[in-house]
Amino acid sequence: MRSVCWFRNDLRVEDNPALYNACLASKSVIGIFIVTQSQWKEHDDAKVKINFWFRSLLKLRDSLEKLNIPLVILETKDYENIAETILKFSQDNKVDNLYFNNEYPINELRRDRKVFSKLKEKDIGVFNYHDQVIHAPGTLKTQSDTNFSVYSPFKRKWFAELKDEQLKLLPIPEKKEASDLKSTDISEYISQSDTSNSHYWETGEEFIQEKIKSFLSTKGSKYKEDRNFPGIEATSKLSPYINSGIVSSKWCLIQAMENNNGFLDEGDKGIVHWVSEILWREFYKHIIYNFPKVSMGKPFISNTSNIKWNIDEGALNRWKKGETGIPIVDAGMREMNETGWMHNRLRMITAMFLSKNLLINWQEGEKYFMENLVDGDIASNNGGWQWSASTGTDAAPYFRIMNPETQSLRFDPKGDYIKFWIPELKDCPISEIHMPSDPEKYGYFKPLVDLKISRQKAIEAFQDLKNL
Ligand SMILES: Cc1cc2nc3c(=O)[nH]c(=O)nc-3n(C[C@H](O)[C@H](O)[C@H](O)COP(=O)(O)OP(=O)(O)OC[C@H]3O[C@@H](n4cnc5c(N)ncnc54)[C@H](O)[C@@H]3O)c2cc1C
Repeated sequence: MRSVCWFRNDLRVEDNPALYNACLASKSVIGIFIVTQSQWKEHDDAKVKINFWFRSLLKLRDSLEKLNIPLVILETKDYENIAETILKFSQDNKVDNLYFNNEYPINELRRDRKVFSKLKEKDIGVFNYHDQVIHAPGTLKTQSDTNFSVYSPFKRKWFAELKDEQLKLLPIPEKKEASDLKSTDISEYISQSDTSNSHYWETGEEFIQEKIKSFLSTKGSKYKEDRNFPGIEATSKLSPYINSGIVSSKWCLIQAMENNNGFLDEGDKGIVHWVSEILWREFYKHIIYNFPKVSMGKPFISNTSNIKWNIDEGALNRWKKGETGIPIVDAGMREMNETGWMHNRLRMITAMFLSKNLLINWQEGEKYFMENLVDGDIASNNGGWQWSASTGTDAAPYFRIMNPETQSLRFDPKGDYIKFWIPELKDCPISEIHMPSDPEKYGYFKPLVDLKISRQKAIEAFQDLKNL
């Protein structure tokens, strides 16, 4: 029996249901990964993320080779041709079965359905597994049998339905029979991708496992207090790894329990809070599956599509470059432009500034984030943007608009984060750093908008909508 394990957002060997089951059932296993550059472009996948994927594949290839599993890279333009590509590969290599872990956005679901029927027609078995979150999307329902659209009751249900076996790790599979196929040389893919910010993102399953263990034991307890201060390295920076499946959600939750006397929802306040953030990720995965319209360019609250957004290319570009003249906003944007990652507090501040103070359509921001984030994930990014723009599930109320200057005073009191990302302001006194009175003196920018007036205009734009 020869099987193929198709890797997608699950670039690991430990606790990988598709790989584990393929190995259990087959003498020989081949790993494949399919490069779909046009599709990635259409999905706005960031260059830094694509480079991260390729470098992660290199590590995955080394781990798979220890199990006698070659990793073959296939290429096709987009999802349209994937079923054909897999069928041809399977027939050329006398493959009996295909294994993969599910993905939940609509394009991926459609792609997988096509693969299913194409291979079944030719008597090739297809086995798919639930993997990305603990409860399979679609399985948690409210008392009235509807899908959750509010986080807190979703979280309660998540815990109520949790079974011990859902938190059991699958081991790394046993070694397979030697294969006649050779792994693809991945170095060329890496060198042809954009390597400019790759030094910020080490790769590898062992690397992230060690990082999370160390994070939880040294910073876990302080997470709740420190997580909002971007000048402190207080969050785990797990997001690129969990989103590419280099580590599973289950693995992370088990580590949290190990650092909290076996508990997830009580005990150490810091660790419990970290778990609740992981559950926000799970919540948005359920949302994207249960309400596919959100991944099809539609707001969750339908009538917010009638908001009269400003069309202002100049302002949008200044926001993108981190030149709005609001230091905390610019610092966040520059952090992302440079590293491919932005602190969560800054994601909220920059997103609210674009969608409220500039009253520019949040979808412009959603797209720009996807184009630049190493952890860009359609579910969490869409969820975060719709939360900030007050168009989404369990979103911030439209009248509760964060004031970036107040946020800056509160979460970057000494201006350390601002000074790091905006060197022009390094000599600006602390008393002025959050909103310099004469920014041009430092070679910095005048504010794009008056915060109070623009806030009022945003509230009015939302109030113009009927039935909010
Ligand atoms: C406008 C906006 C856009 C966002 N875009 C993305 C995105 O594309 N990809 C992404 O993974 N996250 C996104 N987030 C959520 C959050 O900002 C990041 O997950 C977090 O900053 C990652 O840093 P960390 O790994 O250090 O998080 P930690 O604070 O250490 O949290 C641990 C993990 O919990 C999950 N998590 C934490 N906060 C959230 C949240 N608010 N929503 C969903 N999951 C969360 C992440 O998987 C994270 O890695 C976005 C938030 C906003 C407001």
